[in-house]
Amino acid sequence: MEKLVSFRLITLLITGLFLTETTAWAGVATDSPTLKIVATNYPLAYFAERIGGNRVSVDLPVPADEDPAFWKPTAKAVGDMQKAELILLNGADYEKWLPRVSLSKFKLADTSTSFKNNFIRVENAVTHSHGPGGMHSHEGIAFTTWLDFDQAGKQAEAAALAMIRKRPELKSLMMDNLKPLKDDLLVLDSHMQALASSKPGIPLLGSHPVYQYLARRYGLNLKSVHWEPNEMPSEEAWAGLRKLLETHPAQWMIWEAQPSEAIVEKLKVLGISSLVFTPSANRPETGDFLEVMKTNLDQLKEAFH
Ligand SMILES: [Zn+2]
Repeated sequence: MEKLVSFRLITLLITGLFLTETTAWAGVATDSPTLKIVATNYPLAYFAERIGGNRVSVDLPVPADEDPAFWKPTAKAVGDMQKAELILLNGADYEKWLPRVSLSKFKLADTSTSFKNNFIRVENAVTHSHGPGGMHSHEGIAFTTWLDFDQAGKQAEAAALAMIRKRPELKSLMMDNLKPLKDDLLVLDSHMQALASSKPGIPLLGSHPVYQYLARRYGLNLKSVHWEPNEMPSEEAWAGLRKLLETHPAQWMIWEAQPSEAIVEKLKVLGISSLVFTPSANRPETGDFLEVMKTNLDQLKEAFH
């Protein structure tokens, strides 16, 4: 009897130990604290959300009506970044505010360094204004890196690796989530390739100098002006466009956002139709990155009819 009790006791103890052990072991993967991430534009926020799922919280600190490329962080935003564990940067000279804020380099992850030798330099940039940021110029390095969907895939991968460095125990989960994301970007890339090669070299116009990587990757014959969708261009700007059309007879202008009816009508007189291909630098009102890009491709199809 005494032996049986002690036997049972030992069994209980062992079972108990085993249970505690397995719970603790599982706890590494399921209970590690939420990884707090700040992303400096929407594409990176979207990538981080897909890679980390509910194991991460992703903050995009840029107000909805501002272009993250010309945003300057408030004191509160800097405080929030100091509290975050990981800050995903676009790189390519995107975060012009970075040298002026104090952030530990251990929490910074530049997602475009793997292709920095292929950055495009912007020549003859004109200073102009849009949004609450006031006047700005596109001088320096072209920064809309993610519209080359191959580069976007590299940025997603860099984001995943930075996240894994902060939570090594979530490596397999994050790599499993990265795979379908990269597949989605690959599909976009091949659809863009197919679309662009259906009518190679047709002249196109961009309303703003943000399509450099899109044009390079997919071989678009695109020349850009510096227009805003809701600001009627000056007479000088219209004269500039008419001059450009002499050597670049485009029938389509690609816009970041829906242009005003007055601009659309005035372009029609010159034989130019308008379509929207939004870089989605900030969080869209509806849908996600993938849906926005699919809509972009559908819009762009019009120009290749
Ligand atoms: Zn601009």
